[in-house]
Amino acid sequence: MTYDHILVRYGELALKGKNRKTFMQILKRNVEKKLSDFPNIKVKAKRDHMYILLNGEDHEPILKTCEDIFGIQSFSLAMKIENDEDQIKAGALEALKLENGRTFKVTCKRPNKDFPISSQDMNQILGGHLLTNTEGWTVDVHNPDVELRVEIRHDATYITAKKIPGKGGLPVGTTGKTLLMLSGGIDSPVAGYLTMNRGVEIEAIHFHSPPFTSERAKQKVEDLGRVLTNYGGDVKLHVIPFTEIQQKIFQEAPENYGMTIMRRLMMRISERVAKERDILSITTGESLGQVASQTMESMHAINEVTNYPVIRPLVAMDKLDIIKVSKEIGAYDISILPYEDCCTIFVPKQPKTRPTREKVNEFENPIDFSKDIEKAIENMETVTLSANESQVEDEFEDLL
Ligand code: ATP
Ligand code: MG
Repeated sequence: MTYDHILVRYGELALKGKNRKTFMQILKRNVEKKLSDFPNIKVKAKRDHMYILLNGEDHEPILKTCEDIFGIQSFSLAMKIENDEDQIKAGALEALKLENGRTFKVTCKRPNKDFPISSQDMNQILGGHLLTNTEGWTVDVHNPDVELRVEIRHDATYITAKKIPGKGGLPVGTTGKTLLMLSGGIDSPVAGYLTMNRGVEIEAIHFHSPPFTSERAKQKVEDLGRVLTNYGGDVKLHVIPFTEIQQKIFQEAPENYGMTIMRRLMMRISERVAKERDILSITTGESLGQVASQTMESMHAINEVTNYPVIRPLVAMDKLDIIKVSKEIGAYDISILPYEDCCTIFVPKQPKTRPTREKVNEFENPIDFSKDIEKAIENMETVTLSANESQVEDEFEDLL
């Protein structure tokens, strides 16, 4: 008698009416992909729950993985047992022995009325059996450390104990795709993660300025993109060569407007890439008031160049909360590595904190960037980032 499957409770997708079936299929696909290291498991998506049949695989790492999958409300180890009183007793005892705590409660349900013992009586029988055969446990029906749930259905009886909270949210891939402007900083990976929470799949775009920014800085961005693959599928990262455009801006525009113009060019190029790839929105890590470039005026000036929806999940978040999420998702230690990004290199001494659209147009319009934009997009390089291929090269380098 042992745990043989994991019972997965759907999150919000349970509410989604007609789309429900698609949502279940996408969640099933995401779960299977995440668990591809466990060849024996089998995933079954049913109307009310999803089941992961362990078929002998160790449950610990699988439970850990379930914690990272969007669209799962909660999950529990579960045991399937014959509809037989003695077997159910043995199963309940086995389940309780695996738990830590001092008090328990048994909650029986009996949708199968052919089973001869009522759920009330089963509660008593199982409670008595557990008290007799364990040491140190007492019953607490109001606030138990462990609640053993026993469900007697037509096909079999199912026992679960601990309910582990999942991430909630929607399965990644159910609400479309966004183009995430990914820098090497703390904010943009968090912005990507939060967007994924709403079921959005991510492609990322990064502006790279060699030789002012190093190969290692690009690697850092790849590593950050790879962090996001832990919570969804593969992430395509588009790397745009941005050196020439940046040099042109800083040669031809007034220094204090350089930052705003640079951001507008990033936004224009991002929109072009999104359009070519049928992606309907752009996501950034902008927050209000964090740095000089992140004022309402600045956002207004930058946003003028696109009519795409720009998703800014961090706009209302405090920095400390952003850092907290960054740490939780395993991005923080990478984000704080000291490699230069293109914005820190060309940063003007006194960037305009309150740029106006009129002024920025006045300075920007005389400069013709059209060819530079074409060239940058032509020379874009795309890499597909997957989970599990973590920094092998780096470790190798360190060994040499
Ligand atoms: P982050 O921590 O994400 O770097 P930040 O606080 O440094 O953000 P800014 O430098 O003002 O803020 O950048 C605002 C946003 O612009 C970033 O969150 C990111 O979405 C985008 N961005 C900035 N630099 C780049 C870049 N080199 N490539 C792609 N996107 C970028
Ligand atoms: Mg930054």
